Amino acid sequence: MLNPGSSTSARSTLTATRSNPINLEASSSSSTKKITSQLSKDAKPPPATISETGSEETELSTSEGDDDTSWITWFCGLRGNELLCEVDEEFIQDDFNLCGLQAQVSHYDHALDMILDNDSFSGELDDEEHSGIENAAEMLYGLIHARYILTSKGINAMHEKYKRVDFGRCPRVFCEGQPCLPLGTSDIPCNSAVKIYCPKCEDIYFPRCKYQSNMDGAYIGTTFPHLYLMSYPSSKPAKASEKYVPRVFGFKLHKDSK
Ligand SMILES: [Zn+2]
Repeated sequence: MLNPGSSTSARSTLTATRSNPINLEASSSSSTKKITSQLSKDAKPPPATISETGSEETELSTSEGDDDTSWITWFCGLRGNELLCEVDEEFIQDDFNLCGLQAQVSHYDHALDMILDNDSFSGELDDEEHSGIENAAEMLYGLIHARYILTSKGINAMHEKYKRVDFGRCPRVFCEGQPCLPLGTSDIPCNSAVKIYCPKCEDIYFPRCKYQSNMDGAYIGTTFPHLYLMSYPSSKPAKASEKYVPRVFGFKLHKDSK
C-alpha cells in the first residue's frame, strides 16, 4: 500500500505512467521471443475468462479509479497476470533479496521506485523514458516474483491461489480438471513464455488464456511448482491411473500398426 506520506501529486504521476493502452505481444516462435508490454491502469482489463474445463470463470477484482491501489495490486490485477501473486513490499525493500537484478534490468532504480510507489522521478522524464521504465518495472517485478515464490511467504501466497484454481486446470481428460501450477521452462528472462504444470499427469501445457501465454516464464521460474509440492505434499494428487487407448472398430491397435 501507499506510504502514509504519499501526496496527491505522487498518485497523479503514477496514474500518468499507466496511461498507455495494454499491448501485450509475444511471438510464439521458439528462440527469439520478444515479450513487450505497455501497461495501463486506465484501460480497464475486462474480466478474465479462463475457461478451464469449459465452465469456470474468474473475475478479476480491479480497483479502477481507486487512488489507494498500490502499483503491485494494480499490476497483479491486469488481465493475463493472474499467475502472479502480490509480492510483500518488505521483501522488495530488502536489498539482499534483489541481489544481482540490477545488472539484468534497465532503469533499475526508477523501476524499483515505480514498483514501490515512490515518486522520486516525477517531472524528470519524457513519455518515452516513462514507457521504458514501465517495461523495466514489469520485468523487475517478475524477476523479484520468481524469487519471492520460493520463500515460505511466497509459497503460502501461491497456495491460496492454487486453492482458488487461479492457475487453470489440466486440459487432459483423464486428469479430470486437476488444478495446475505455473511454471517457467527457463530462469533466464525473454527465453520462453510461461507454461502450466499438471501435478497429476506431470506434464506441461500452454495456458488456456492467451493473455497469460504472453507472460515471461522467468517470472515464475523452473523450480516453483516442484518446491511448492514438496512444501504442501497434501496438494499433490494421486497420479493419473487411466491412459487413453486408441481403438479401431473397438479393437486395440497392434503395436506394429501404430
Ligand atoms: Zn494432467
